[in-house]
Amino acid sequence: MRTTTQQQSSRNRVEAGLLRRINERRLFEVLQQHGPASRASLARLSGLTAPTVSKAVESLLTRGFVEETDPVDQAFGRPGKLIRLAKESATVLGVVIDVDRCAVVSTGINGHVTEDRTIRFQTPASYPALLDAIEAHVRTAVDDSFEQVRGIGISVPGLVNDRLGEIVFSPNLHLLDQHNPARDLTTRLQCECLLVQESHALCLGEHLYGLAREFDDFALLDVEAGLGLAVMSNGRLLAGHSGLAGEIGHITVDPDGLRCGCGNRGCLETLATDAALVRMLSASLGQPLGLPDAEALLTKRAADFQHEIQTVTEHLAIAIAAVVNIFNPTALFVHGRLLAGHSERFEQVLDRVKQRTLTASLADCAIHATRSSKRQGAIAAIMSHLTQSWAPSLG
Ligand SMILES: [Zn+2]
Repeated sequence: MRTTTQQQSSRNRVEAGLLRRINERRLFEVLQQHGPASRASLARLSGLTAPTVSKAVESLLTRGFVEETDPVDQAFGRPGKLIRLAKESATVLGVVIDVDRCAVVSTGINGHVTEDRTIRFQTPASYPALLDAIEAHVRTAVDDSFEQVRGIGISVPGLVNDRLGEIVFSPNLHLLDQHNPARDLTTRLQCECLLVQESHALCLGEHLYGLAREFDDFALLDVEAGLGLAVMSNGRLLAGHSGLAGEIGHITVDPDGLRCGCGNRGCLETLATDAALVRMLSASLGQPLGLPDAEALLTKRAADFQHEIQTVTEHLAIAIAAVVNIFNPTALFVHGRLLAGHSERFEQVLDRVKQRTLTASLADCAIHATRSSKRQGAIAAIMSHLTQSWAPSLG
């Protein structure tokens, strides 16, 4: 009987601990959704009792996840202090590895990404040089002290195999093939690093900090360098068996078309992206252009390149229609610059989408261009990971 009592009491302790963490996560999510709030507002918004809120806030304060601040308007009586997500007492970092340029950004638990806390650098030519550069810039960003750092989200282009724990293939940045920079940087920096596919990161960013906060079923199409897709279904990212789901960019649309980074010919990615339009404009001018050059050229002389713009418009519409038809999302966010980032050109894309989509599916779906950033995505990824590993959500 004695053993049974001991087992019972240890189970009670585990359950109490879990319940405490679930309550803390609940408050954390309320602060993420609503911004700074008093303890009384937190109780009202979370549905938890005042003593439970008080205890949970104390625990979050001790661990540096939230901070106390004075309310802006103190005109009425003696308002209580506000609780906000930590700006100063804890730090998370985002690392964006991209085809041409990389970035390291540091921020508080509030996830607010700013230019003055961003370090950008050219993507090095080899994997060891890439790790060296990231390590150096991360150390600079945190002043060589990891005491406040809770984790680092690392966004990468390519296929991230969750079961193998590595980037199996990155069509546009082969130096990442068969590597896991998060694992290697965890060893170097002695700090938790998380690997996340860049489209998944953008999708998490939109969900946590962007226009998709209210949505549990939406999709994000990234059409800048490659054609990436992430689908949030029932509040979870659609992963497939190994995390490789969503590679819509490598559907063949022209069997005799251009060679794609994946090795096949005529993939949708070679015709529907900003990179595709840059390549066509470069060919037309007879000189290599970067994305900013192409953007400037289209601002000045769009009329001279109607054929190129129409070709990419048509294929981007096919990509968008495929996502709407297959996944029936409530919203689709399109992340890109040359077409999605220009309201008039994006209108033309949406006109073509109408002709390519099933009417019933399109009626369900709002399509938005988004300027969400991969930096924000990398931060969202590490924040989602930290809150999930902390406690399950009951929401
Ligand atoms: Zn391909």
